[in-house]
Amino acid sequence: MGCSGYLVSDVDPVFNCQQCGWCCRGEGGIALDEKRVGRLASYLGLPVERLLARFCHRRDGRWYVAAGRDGYCLFFDHSIPGCAVHPVKPEICELWPYFPGNVANREGFEVAKNNCPGIGRDVTHEAFVANARHHGLGPKTTKE
Ligand code: SF4
Ligand code: SF4
Repeated sequence: MGCSGYLVSDVDPVFNCQQCGWCCRGEGGIALDEKRVGRLASYLGLPVERLLARFCHRRDGRWYVAAGRDGYCLFFDHSIPGCAVHPVKPEICELWPYFPGNVANREGFEVAKNNCPGIGRDVTHEAFVANARHHGLGPKTTKE
């Protein structure tokens, strides 16, 4: 879901998205609130109903971005490669990899680091947490 591009900078010593798409795979985890639905529809020049029918599915009263047969989010463009809706991507995608669980828990961070090549190989959990705080993300306290 990743490529939290708005956080990325060429000099960020902790995280620079490599556009590998690993975090853009998997079914059903990308929730959309009403505001994001509207922004996505506007960005793509589609009526909301068409956006929802073509790219989303509904579960337990909420809308989620759907995945294709290849397992990638329908907004992942292999030709870029990267997110085709980057400026208006869902909130959870903007947040990655600074999910609360990755900031609060070392184990969560290690899993993220093992799978996301955008997190520097030598980055420690402490540096990751400090960077999250620098960007105003994640919980205020950590637990080991
Ligand atoms: S919306 Fe974009 S960043 Fe989020 S999972 Fe889909 S392709 Fe990835
Ligand atoms: S897994 Fe990491 S490097 Fe790959 S697309 Fe997601 S954020 Fe970028």
